[in-house]
Amino acid sequence: MKKPAGNYSRRKFIIQNSLAGTAAIIGMNFPHLSSPGSRETGAPAILGGSPAWAPGQKPEWVKWPIWVPETDEPRVLEVLRSGVWSEAKVVKEFENAWAKTIGARRCVTTVNGTNALICALVNLDIGAGDEVIVPPYTFIATIQAVLQTGAIPVFVDTDPETFQIDAGKIEASITPRTRAILPVHIAGLPADMEQITAIAKRHNLVVVEDACQAWLAEINHKKVGTFGNAGCFSFQNSKNIPIGEGGAVVSDDETFIDRCVSYHNFGISYGSMVDKMGPGITMIGTKLRLTEYQAAMGLAQLKRLDTQTTTRNENAGYLRSRLMEIPGITPYKLYDNVTRAAFHLFPFRYEKNEFAGLPKAGFLSALRAEGVPCSGGYDTLNDKPFIRHAFQTKNFKKMYSETELDYNKFLERNQCPENDRLCQEAVWFTQNLLLGSKTDMDYIASAIEKIHKNAGKIKKTDQK
Ligand SMILES: *Cc1c(COP(=O)(O)O)cnc(C)c1O
Repeated sequence: MKKPAGNYSRRKFIIQNSLAGTAAIIGMNFPHLSSPGSRETGAPAILGGSPAWAPGQKPEWVKWPIWVPETDEPRVLEVLRSGVWSEAKVVKEFENAWAKTIGARRCVTTVNGTNALICALVNLDIGAGDEVIVPPYTFIATIQAVLQTGAIPVFVDTDPETFQIDAGKIEASITPRTRAILPVHIAGLPADMEQITAIAKRHNLVVVEDACQAWLAEINHKKVGTFGNAGCFSFQNSKNIPIGEGGAVVSDDETFIDRCVSYHNFGISYGSMVDKMGPGITMIGTKLRLTEYQAAMGLAQLKRLDTQTTTRNENAGYLRSRLMEIPGITPYKLYDNVTRAAFHLFPFRYEKNEFAGLPKAGFLSALRAEGVPCSGGYDTLNDKPFIRHAFQTKNFKKMYSETELDYNKFLERNQCPENDRLCQEAVWFTQNLLLGSKTDMDYIASAIEKIHKNAGKIKKTDQK
């Protein structure tokens, strides 16, 4: 974000110029934009005008993470002073609380969400020779988790309206090698689980839900993470329930969770695994254990998650209705059966043609200048070199034939044109903005309206 240099006369010229231009536009082409109480009539901040915020008011977005010493620290201090820091009863308490919150029978916590995914996939026996269906619009961890198991990710294009995997396109990508579908509830908006679970049933596939952005999101009042064989969560610092690093696998399948617990603790038999495999170190495993102080932090954060989720839903719904009115701005859509979203992100599409051809980068800079933090979202993943590298590793070369690892064929097979376009058009607000007031949402809408009106001028100054 760069403010124009302090050349007063040039700045003044620009301001006057844009005001004149604004006046010409208002009431002619976009009368609906001059809604009462909106502040979009000034010059854009990036051209020297004052930001969309009320005069004298500084943009103060909720800082993330939130930590309340009085209520959050007693339990953490108790743990610190106890000297029991490695996984014990507080971790158990957090796992039970998380299972209850999500409405799953069981939960095992892990060091992070990435390893929650790996743990779930491995213990559902996904590995060499398997194909796992994934969306291309996701955080890198989803795809790396699949590659870590030795399976090959198969990308199914995105539904640009919802930002989720296009369930209608999944069946065309199923082969005799397909073993799993890994839907991601990206942005905290639920994927189309009704269709996905039906497809999985028809083709005898397992479903692992990447709910690493979707704590408390619901479809028909049932929490996401409980639709598939396993649901995976992240508690990383930026997430809606942050503890620095942490993750969880939930499931109703007790044997599966017992296997995950064993796996996450060096393969030492746990629960029903003792009967199945005998006592002791009976299976391959690793170490993914959370610490007691992280669990204590999680319990503190969990207390406010529900209230915050309600606030995010209210603000997102209102902001969405405001942004729907702006030409060239198309907010996310929720599937009809979604009863609650998590709103880790508030995603929308930006069409530059409706903004006088102003490139997305210019739009983002202009919006930041108005005091509204925003992001250009994910880049494509299906064409990135990490997959080629995976194919070149010793393990992959042992697991697959040369033809199976033909990278050009992989690229050809995994084209996602809708997603390519979405990556170019997508813009996000992060969840902490949605913890603001309704007036804050009005500011955001006003800022975008102002940029829309002045897009031609902003483009001409070629600000980046
Ligand atoms: C954050 C995230 C992960 C990984 O979680 P970490 O705790 O950061 O390892 C996986 N998938 C998605 C969609 C995420 O947003």
